[in-house]
Amino acid sequence: MTLFAAPTHEKIRPATGPVAPATSTHHGLGVSDVRLDPAGFWGIRQAVNAGATLQHCLEWMERLGWIENFDRVARGEATVTRPGWQFSDSEIYKLLEAMAWELGRSPDASLAAAFDSLVDRVGAAQDDDGYLNTAHGHPGLPPRYSDMAMGHELYNTGHLLQAAVARHRTGHDDRLVQIARRAADQVCKEFGAGGFDAVCGHPEIEVALVEAGRAFGERRYLEQARLFVERRGRGTLPVRPLLSAEYFQDDVPVREASVLRGHAVRALYLSAGAFDVAVETHDEELADAVTTQWRNTVARRTYLTGGMGSRHQDEGFGDDWELPSDRAYCETCAGVASIMLAWRLYLATGEARYPDLIERTLFNVVATSPSEDGRSFFYANPLHQREPGASASDGVNNRAEGGVRAPWFDVSCCPTNVARTIASLGAYVASVDDEGIAVLQYAAGEIRAGGFVLHVQTRYPDEGTVLVRILAAPESESRLRLRIPGWAGSATVRVNLDEAIDVAPGWADIRRRFEPGDEIVLELPLTPRFTWPDDRIDAVRGTVAVERGPLVLCLESTDLPSYVRVDNVRLDADLAPYAHADGARAGGVIVAATSSSGPLPFSAARPLTTESVPVEFTLVPYHRWAERGPATMRIFIPVAG
Ligand SMILES: [Zn+2]
Repeated sequence: MTLFAAPTHEKIRPATGPVAPATSTHHGLGVSDVRLDPAGFWGIRQAVNAGATLQHCLEWMERLGWIENFDRVARGEATVTRPGWQFSDSEIYKLLEAMAWELGRSPDASLAAAFDSLVDRVGAAQDDDGYLNTAHGHPGLPPRYSDMAMGHELYNTGHLLQAAVARHRTGHDDRLVQIARRAADQVCKEFGAGGFDAVCGHPEIEVALVEAGRAFGERRYLEQARLFVERRGRGTLPVRPLLSAEYFQDDVPVREASVLRGHAVRALYLSAGAFDVAVETHDEELADAVTTQWRNTVARRTYLTGGMGSRHQDEGFGDDWELPSDRAYCETCAGVASIMLAWRLYLATGEARYPDLIERTLFNVVATSPSEDGRSFFYANPLHQREPGASASDGVNNRAEGGVRAPWFDVSCCPTNVARTIASLGAYVASVDDEGIAVLQYAAGEIRAGGFVLHVQTRYPDEGTVLVRILAAPESESRLRLRIPGWAGSATVRVNLDEAIDVAPGWADIRRRFEPGDEIVLELPLTPRFTWPDDRIDAVRGTVAVERGPLVLCLESTDLPSYVRVDNVRLDADLAPYAHADGARAGGVIVAATSSSGPLPFSAARPLTTESVPVEFTLVPYHRWAERGPATMRIFIPVAG
């Protein structure tokens, strides 16, 4: 007999993923709640991430001295000539976050030892008051918080906090958590109410403080995040040549903006943090503002791949409809940041459009970046490559847009961002709510959450059949919902031996008392389809793309005879593309056009295009482009006639 009933508000919920709002209806999973099949699309990538990418990142940062920067500070030997940019600390933190998720997903003694060793070296550089940074604040370095626009100190601290959240959410309250809490305390002391009235040029501390507050039960961290969000947009950051207030999102207060603008990664990190603040403080005006910005940005400033950011100069969003394929920047980190924002919006609303964009971005940005062996990466993800890239060198790549994956970059934010995302991918596969479970992303494996154990069998995205077998289920009636992607048009769902029913994009809801052995079969249509650009996107008017399921396909020079250039192919829109083992086959013609003969590539005579022999060509998944060597490539293909 117990004297007190258990408090009803202490419902057990899986608070072990990257994002765990206190009051949301929908909850993501912990990384250990999902086991991806190692032979499935994402299971293969998780294995490569664990087996190659983590070590690859560690070795590069050791080789370049970015980790030794912490040792130098600990020894009192810091100098301004330290290797790495002022944000290199953040790469060590993002790697720690990736390692923490990976250890939570699949414990491994040697990875645990590497993690502990790295944490020790980071911790040794922490000041007595909690300040931790290797580029500022020590003899021989610029003073603390002396360059709020470009110093990245709070940005670095944010990534430290996210690493500690990953550690905490995977069951450890140890050294990294203590280091991060002391660093967060120092930030609150310095920048709290009545303190230094400033924001960091690169948002990240906001989203990290909210999550650290949630994970560690510190309301102060949430309040500090709220202050940073409210302070932004009031022009306190000094603008520099080429870097406007808009670049820093310091031009308009978050709650007054209608669309994302400026540096894409900054804008998306800030939005994720602002939305978190809105959720935790029940600030509906702020939540509505972020939701509107997301909707407008996705509707007018987002590429077919889900990529964001069309301007190289400031790694930023362009104007509405400014979406050139060849000059698409689409930084891999912006894809990661877009997933972060969409995930938060989903948890608050349960709307399918958010996991729809997450799927598009996962398959066509996140999966595009790493090579098959997990040791080289795309930083920019253009949709059209006019010249084959030079073969990747083994050295540090200074150019983010080389047309080939590179092992490491001068600014190397993307590899560790890919690593932490893939290590924590299980968290995004499904969600639970009071009514049951929702399967959001289709990946072969096993899901344990909300009283369910689901075995998911599929060869998606190569095949459209998804078999969900119930291994365990709640005793009472509950709901299992399956996301029907927006691209699907319609799909069919069959429960056990019942007749298959057609379902429209959104959700297929199955409500019943589930029994172990129940089977649900989802059939998603994977017939290749044309996707036409909005007429307002001048850069791709008169062209069409081909998609198959969640995959954007591309025409790569590797698949054409050597005498045919990618840019001489015209697609016949009257011929339906059809499925092929490599992606799709489409029909069209090879064209020759009259060339301009004057000094400029323009002339008074309208060019004549002669269409020659009809051809059929192969389109391959964009995420694998340039895997077979440097190539030219395009996603949007001009239409014949
Ligand atoms: Zn990046």
